[in-house]
Amino acid sequence: MEWYKLPVNEVERKLHVFHKRGLLQTQIDERRKKYGENLMQEAERPSILVLWMKQFQDFLVLILFAATFIAAILGEYIDATAILLIVLLNGCIGFFQERKAERSLEQLKALSAPEMRVLRNGEWKTVQAKEAVIGDVVALRTGDRVPADIRLVQVNALQIDEAILTGESAPVHKQETALIRGGEEIHNQTNMAFKSTLVRKGNGVGIIVRTGMQTEIGQVAQLLEKTTVTTTPLERKLADLGKVLIYIVLALTILTVLIGLYDGKPMYDMFLIGISLAVAVIPEGLPAIVTVTLSLGVQRMLRRKVLVRKLSSVETLGCTSVICTDKTGTITENKMVVKELYMNGQYIVYDDLLQSNLPKNISTNNVQQMLQFGALCNEANLQVKRGTYVVDGDPTDGAILIAARNYGISYVEDEKYHKVTMEPFDVLKKRMHTIVEGEGGKRYFIMKGAPEEIIPRSRYQLDTNGRKFSADNTRLQKAAEHMAEKAYRVIAIAMKEIKDSPVNETDCIFLGMYGLFDPPRKGVKKAIATCRNAGIQTVMITGDHPLTASAIAKEVGIVYDAHNEILDGKALEQMSDATLQDVVTKVNVFARVTPTHKLRIVEAFQAKGHIVAMTGDGVNDAPAIKQSNIGISMGITGTDVTKEASSIVLMDDNFITLQEAIKEGRNIYENIRKFIRYLLTSNVGEIILMLFAILLSYPLPLIPVQILWVNLVTDGLPAMALSMDRPEKNVMDEKPRHPNERILSRGLGWKIISRGLLIGLVSLIAFIASYHMSNDITYARTIAFSTIIVAQLIHVFDCRNERGIWTRSPFGNLYLVGAVLSSLILLFVVLYVPFLQQIFQTVPLLKGDWGMIVLLGSVPTIVNIFTKHRKK
Ligand code: ADP
Ligand code: MG
Repeated sequence: MEWYKLPVNEVERKLHVFHKRGLLQTQIDERRKKYGENLMQEAERPSILVLWMKQFQDFLVLILFAATFIAAILGEYIDATAILLIVLLNGCIGFFQERKAERSLEQLKALSAPEMRVLRNGEWKTVQAKEAVIGDVVALRTGDRVPADIRLVQVNALQIDEAILTGESAPVHKQETALIRGGEEIHNQTNMAFKSTLVRKGNGVGIIVRTGMQTEIGQVAQLLEKTTVTTTPLERKLADLGKVLIYIVLALTILTVLIGLYDGKPMYDMFLIGISLAVAVIPEGLPAIVTVTLSLGVQRMLRRKVLVRKLSSVETLGCTSVICTDKTGTITENKMVVKELYMNGQYIVYDDLLQSNLPKNISTNNVQQMLQFGALCNEANLQVKRGTYVVDGDPTDGAILIAARNYGISYVEDEKYHKVTMEPFDVLKKRMHTIVEGEGGKRYFIMKGAPEEIIPRSRYQLDTNGRKFSADNTRLQKAAEHMAEKAYRVIAIAMKEIKDSPVNETDCIFLGMYGLFDPPRKGVKKAIATCRNAGIQTVMITGDHPLTASAIAKEVGIVYDAHNEILDGKALEQMSDATLQDVVTKVNVFARVTPTHKLRIVEAFQAKGHIVAMTGDGVNDAPAIKQSNIGISMGITGTDVTKEASSIVLMDDNFITLQEAIKEGRNIYENIRKFIRYLLTSNVGEIILMLFAILLSYPLPLIPVQILWVNLVTDGLPAMALSMDRPEKNVMDEKPRHPNERILSRGLGWKIISRGLLIGLVSLIAFIASYHMSNDITYARTIAFSTIIVAQLIHVFDCRNERGIWTRSPFGNLYLVGAVLSSLILLFVVLYVPFLQQIFQTVPLLKGDWGMIVLLGSVPTIVNIFTKHRKK
């Protein structure tokens, strides 16, 4: 169907929809059933079976299987079955961990799915783009990704970048009228908007005519939405660490086996023990647990309104040393209210206006005209919900509309003027304009924007009778600054009557200025202080006036002493990159800057070695967001483009949330350190026990199934529980971590070796002592087996603290308590269930035995109490 050739009413008739009302629910359901979801085809995912089999690919596990097979041939059925079962169980744990990680990643993807504004049953709402059906009426705004193929019915300076489809990078100007001739080329179908293209400017409304794979992009590309799995730096670092560890473990295992053989132990026994030891001790699961930890952290963040789009950013968050944040909406509430008007030398408190207390040299007409024109040169809409105004669109414009409405300028009055054209607000030019046609066909050019932009283009003002007189521009500038000092966002408005186009934007009549107030968010001051305490500098970047910016910056503590500097866009423009780098770390507020400056600011900080988190909401912010180490977009005010460029979305646009995210980022990294510490310490202990026993010519202290059981019982649940630990109290009292820091730095490596040695030694002592006392190897092995498990389960609580022990209650992490209890139960079953006693070659232990086991098992923790800890 060639939709571009049809006039709008024809399109409406064919699709049974009216563009002022949208589809009805019954139509939507019906069409969704018929055409399916508005999605591109996805690549197939591996089946559950494949994923499960993957767990056993590991080379060592395969050897273990082979060994079991040999054992079975030799008639060791019990051994063989037990080993097989344990390996399968281990595989299941790995499988569930991986599934969990994958699931949560999928959930994340679903959450960051694009949305659209759609008119259904007469009401505008936001839904996921995949829910779009043919006939849906959708709104397009600057920065949106077009959700489907759309026949436009209403456009407002709409320009769309269709490079993704046509390769042409210059945006296409769109219109609404039907194309009778031509238009076969996509590029020429100027009344259409195509799925996945990008709205660069303006806005519009249209009717969806094709969805999903039927769209142009679906047709040409047959794109498979591949979910490319990228590993994070930390996962890579761990994989590298894992490789090193494998060699160390293998060397030690081979050493153990060789010494055992030299000592005259049977070849077959040593072979099986070697393999089991290697399987138990090689931390093959590390990268998987890291992924699980990261994605669990990501879910915790989600509950706090932080959407993580790139897993790797969770790690980087903890390294953040500079936050470059927007003012409007992030530091402030973005609830603009007009507080003051300036007109003819007078500052009028807006609320006084409503009491009609006008100063002498101002007439009601003056006020009315200014407010009326402000409402006309405006991109927002107002809806009345439950008796209050709800702004649809830019809050600044919304406040200006409300100011007009409250003064009695109604929609009916607007109808007296007919909008001819509108140039939307441009952050680079810091102004916008409209041309309207009033009574008697008179045309007016209305311009509104930052005072520095409007005042130089104005030449006159109006007196009480509406007569022109020359304006004093210096005086107007002073007035603008005076208002900015009061933390007001100042917006000036001017107009002129025009006859011909093109209009030259000079010699306008200055109507006045609005002073808008946007209160800082509650709690921001504290969040900024917390960040400073954590070695993170907060820098405000705003398009607003330096005086407005610094007034707010002082209030929230971004500017806190006399050395803090404020740099404005003009000065920045003059600076070379080198000069900028010299001053950048001293600047706390960048005012009157444009999005292009943002990029330079990020680069300057990075050149100084900083890890920069940068927020942004507009289309033009995307390059800076991409360049920063952690790009942050806004869930509410952000455009699709910035969201796509960002690695984190603040769903409530709130600075406090960002600070929480950084804290969580630090915590996640610490949790990773915690379980690495725990796992490796345990493994060192196991190797030490075996190696030293053999060196001392004792019988093997553990048999293969026991080794594998120790590994299963201690590694699985407790490590997972550690990864869910809450932050230690003072994570935000330390300087940010250097991104290149090694995982085992800050004393972690030493802790692992020394505590591992202790765990191994106490288990060995328990083994030797009980062996000499009873001369019963089964009993001695049971003791060694229990001691090494108990020692590890006690030690796991030490791992929660990097900053001293007993600072945290052991019950602070209930998952861990639960995990340790279930591990103990797993220990008890193999000791006390007769059938399992046979398989695991254990004997039931008595009270006295347990006394010794717990005492010896606590030694590493007791030593821990008397050692120095990481400083604050
Ligand atoms: P911010 O960093 O606060 O988002 P902006 O870049 O949005 O700053 O705005 C810069 C300046 O442009 C403001 O100080 C104001 O004077 C002017 N301005 C902002 N929004 C509008 C608007 N909708 N219409 C006219 N002028 C505006
Ligand atoms: Mg803005």
